[in-house]
Amino acid sequence: MNKYPKALENLIECYSKLPSVGKKTAERYALYTLFSMDESDMIDFTNALISLRKDIHICPNCGNITESSLCTICSDDTRNKRQVLVVESVKDLLTIEKVNEFRGVYHVLNGAINFSKGIGIDDLNIDSLIEKVKNNEIDELILATNATIEGETTARYIKELLNSYDIKITRLAHGLPVGGDLSYADEMTVLKAFEGRRDY
Ligand SMILES: [Zn+2]
Repeated sequence: MNKYPKALENLIECYSKLPSVGKKTAERYALYTLFSMDESDMIDFTNALISLRKDIHICPNCGNITESSLCTICSDDTRNKRQVLVVESVKDLLTIEKVNEFRGVYHVLNGAINFSKGIGIDDLNIDSLIEKVKNNEIDELILATNATIEGETTARYIKELLNSYDIKITRLAHGLPVGGDLSYADEMTVLKAFEGRRDY
């Protein structure tokens, strides 16, 4: 028998899907929402969630998230379009943007090669990147995939794919903890990783 009404149980279930939120915290959040949130806050909350689905899409040029046709980075004329930093996820992109050091543009792979999960290079968002290299639109490619087996494998594959083209390929790994997810690195670590990027 449920100890809460169905509507409350549903909300607890939703909150418990958030990272690091256990059943107890989910209950606390749900009870707070029910008893302490005023109606306009609740409506704002609901609308914000709906708008996430409705208004945000993927930038066709780089894979970042955007509300316009191109993302703010791709449409920024002050950024160097010939220097491209390759990351696994939008989360990684946001981590690097926070440091405010990089003035080039990004390419989001939307994953990494993982043979045990059956994810190969063809499953990644990579075709448009290769196309840009072939069309001589890129001078430097900075590989910033994670310092994990998957990230290293992906970096190596990309390097191999583009070996015959005349571009500088560097790897952003120095200073990042092995096995580390870029999005968990602090700003100082990312900054150091930038300065220490090496030819790959
Ligand atoms: Zn973009």
